[in-house]
Amino acid sequence: MMSAATLTTTKLTRTCAGCSAKAEGEALLRVVRVDASTIAVDLNQRMVGRGAYVHPTAQCVQRAIRGGFARSFGENVTVSMPIFANQVVRGAHRKMQGLLLAAHRTRSLLVGADLVERRVSEDHNDLRIVLARDAGSIATSNWIQERVAKGRVMAWSTRHELGRWLGRSEVVVCATTDTRIGAALEGAYGLQITFEALERLEAQSV
Ligand SMILES: [Zn+2]
Repeated sequence: MMSAATLTTTKLTRTCAGCSAKAEGEALLRVVRVDASTIAVDLNQRMVGRGAYVHPTAQCVQRAIRGGFARSFGENVTVSMPIFANQVVRGAHRKMQGLLLAAHRTRSLLVGADLVERRVSEDHNDLRIVLARDAGSIATSNWIQERVAKGRVMAWSTRHELGRWLGRSEVVVCATTDTRIGAALEGAYGLQITFEALERLEAQSV
């Protein structure tokens, strides 16, 4: 049986500061006002402070920046899209790092091309693969390309950064067999991709 507490934490309806539509909190980004010129994007929805919510889309974030956040907080906040987008990108990066380490700790992380390729050849469709952005030739191998086509590959981080986290000199590819961690990884990766593009767009338009 679901307790009242469970219901309120997972199903609480929030209003998007961009489009004013209501949605479950999980579908929105939580934003906390730190001071008049600083907001913090709270990807884990745990930060103390008055929060506002916004859909993780260019249109809703832009509208929120132009006035929606000020209405939500009852006070002006000065924030630009590049700064907001950068916060999301960095937050998503930290979140993915945490998820990867959680998978490593719980022994649900396959590290290295040999292990991952073997598991892929056994046709594990749920496997979520993290491929270093500087992976090199492995990125064009057939077994990786097949997974890319199925939307199961996240091109993220670098071989040295992955290696540092996982206690090796470098890691080109790894994959989690934990479907819950895999889904959370995909969610954070989606945010990172969306907001990296927004950071670039803003930079070009200046
Ligand atoms: Zn919205």
